[in-house]
Amino acid sequence: MFIAVIGSFIGSFMLCLTYQEGSLFRRSQCDSCHSDLVWYELIPVVSFIMQKGRCRQCNNQIPLHIFMTELLFFMLFLLFFSESSSALYAACISFLVPLAIYDIHHFKVPNHMLLLFACILLLIRYPLLFDIQHLVYSVLLIILLHLFYLLTGSIGYGDIKLLSLFALFLPLTYFLLIFMLTYFIGGIAVICFLFYKHNLKKIPLIPFITASTLLVFKFYDELYTIYFGGFL
Ligand SMILES: [Zn+2]
Repeated sequence: MFIAVIGSFIGSFMLCLTYQEGSLFRRSQCDSCHSDLVWYELIPVVSFIMQKGRCRQCNNQIPLHIFMTELLFFMLFLLFFSESSSALYAACISFLVPLAIYDIHHFKVPNHMLLLFACILLLIRYPLLFDIQHLVYSVLLIILLHLFYLLTGSIGYGDIKLLSLFALFLPLTYFLLIFMLTYFIGGIAVICFLFYKHNLKKIPLIPFITASTLLVFKFYDELYTIYFGGFL
């Protein structure tokens, strides 16, 4: 429970960080009237409900995705953290969920977040880089990803950068499972979307990468058996 509360604070913070560079060094403000928020307006989830989703100064609505993100972080930390408790899992949620929301809004991935994600991954996963075999596979995968990008053009470069980070810092089987699952879930979603909207031009991929990553962390053993169990 305590972890989940911490999680919702992290979510709130990471979302701000994703949407504006440099928010690390200034006080939180209302997006509409730019008045500084006091401490009790900064409590994730609770303050949104207490203020009925409106700013106390200007009475403008606070964007709903902020509330949803805080709630999502709370639940993701509450549900998963105790079991697969790892710094890697926490880092992945903290970066992927805000990036997914940003991708839905803007169809891109902010570079400063990828850079920060890379630093955090390096910090907690650096022993992996001394594993020559892993390194060879990673470099091969990253080359394949870039070929995929150049030849098909069906994927954004922001997605390639994120997947390259995964190739470098996650175990190989995790990467493969996440990649396959992303296209599996994405494919189903596209079919569903097409039923409702016929003019589908662009689809953000990060939400699917995020969903697959969480699923792979949670159900690694089951998914591994389904995909590789038969012949490995
Ligand atoms: Zn305001």
